[in-house]
Amino acid sequence: DDGLTQDQQALLDRARAVAEAAAAQAAETDRTEQYPWPMVARMRDAGLMGLTIPREWGGPGLTYFDAALVIEELSKACAVCGRIAVESNMGALGAIMAYGTAAQKRIAADLVLAGDKPAICITEPGAGSAATEMATRADRRGDGWVINGEKHWITGGGISRLHLIFARAFEDGRELGIGGFLVVRSGERDPAGLVIHRRIPSMGLKGMPEAEIRFRDLRVADDMLLAPPGGFARGFGKLMDAYNGQRVGAATVALGLGAGAYERALDFARTRHQFGRPIAEFQGLGWMLADMSIRLEASRALVWRAARSAGPNGFPDRLAAAQAKVMAADAAIEVTNAALQVWGAAGYSRENPMERILRDARMFAIAGGTAQVLRTQVAEQILGRKLPQTRDGFLRQAAADAG
Ligand code: FAD
Repeated sequence: DDGLTQDQQALLDRARAVAEAAAAQAAETDRTEQYPWPMVARMRDAGLMGLTIPREWGGPGLTYFDAALVIEELSKACAVCGRIAVESNMGALGAIMAYGTAAQKRIAADLVLAGDKPAICITEPGAGSAATEMATRADRRGDGWVINGEKHWITGGGISRLHLIFARAFEDGRELGIGGFLVVRSGERDPAGLVIHRRIPSMGLKGMPEAEIRFRDLRVADDMLLAPPGGFARGFGKLMDAYNGQRVGAATVALGLGAGAYERALDFARTRHQFGRPIAEFQGLGWMLADMSIRLEASRALVWRAARSAGPNGFPDRLAAAQAKVMAADAAIEVTNAALQVWGAAGYSRENPMERILRDARMFAIAGGTAQVLRTQVAEQILGRKLPQTRDGFLRQAAADAG
């Protein structure tokens, strides 16, 4: 807890109390695959939802770093709870708090502080890493928009109320660029045209639904367009800046999973005896534990640096966020896998948490920018040049530079 203020220590203590309850229900949430509503209520009552919401909108106005402290603590106990904390502090919420109108901020703040985990809808069956190739479209009709298309792997699909939907905007047949549109599910029924088509069964983090969502003539009023400064043309880039916050959040969940597995491996190594001695005395295990601690400290250093890097737009630095996520996501897979090994057969048993933690850790190198795509982002920034990924990308860029 080095270098933390008294307020941050107090925040951590509050998070630890909730994490204890989170740990007690994590196995059940994994088994039943039900969204942990009772934990949401506890997190809300402890003031852990919407930590980053400014005071003028009813939140405590804390920083991304403060939120990261909470997210790591919750994720050590229950990564689903950690992810709820990410999405109620970063991602869609960050974008709305940065670029939204007063009315939009009011809606988002009220929903999140009441316990909603907003959904961010970017990925489509045909547009994963190539997100800008999305086909979902929003056509200008009268004084609003009509959205058609489909998204998949939408975290929270079916439980989230607030949705930030990305779509290609068209007016009079002309494409304007990619914009963000806010849609709220009321809880009782979906807005006409927003269909939660199905839940996608997943490997880990099973308490968090991942869904396919379809838009069929979904009407969005003009005042629910999330308009970044610079308009549609540069809009997607600006809106995606908010994603740097989400990336730091995802990196923090990965870090928490690794740290939780490491602590459990240390305990086990001290108490399990073979050959008449604690297994911790075997050098083969000691070096594994040492490597785990090194990877985790390196991850934490990058995550903290990224979380503290918030620039003038309020979002963490793009390079620092990508570096932190690559490091923490890769480390989480290695560390949780090694920790299971320390537990031997007990680690492989579904009666113990190690196999769940390993499954939960697997996604962070995939979602929110894969480990490969983020390495390319890092390369672009350290090289100071664009690295287009389409076959004709460099030719188009050369033409644009010339003309
Ligand atoms: P693809 O893009 O098809 O990639 C397949 C493989 O090719 C990967 O290994 C990838 O790294 C590699 N690859 C692709 N392009 C390149 C390249 N240029 N260079 C090198 N390698 C490349 N999306 C949302 O919009 N909202 C969400 O809430 C959300 N939540 C998610 C939750 C989970 C658990 C998961 C698994 C995904 C989620 N996603 C979400 C989607 C996620 O962002 C995408 O899965 C991700 O962007 C990768 O897209 P893809 O799966 O289609 O893989």
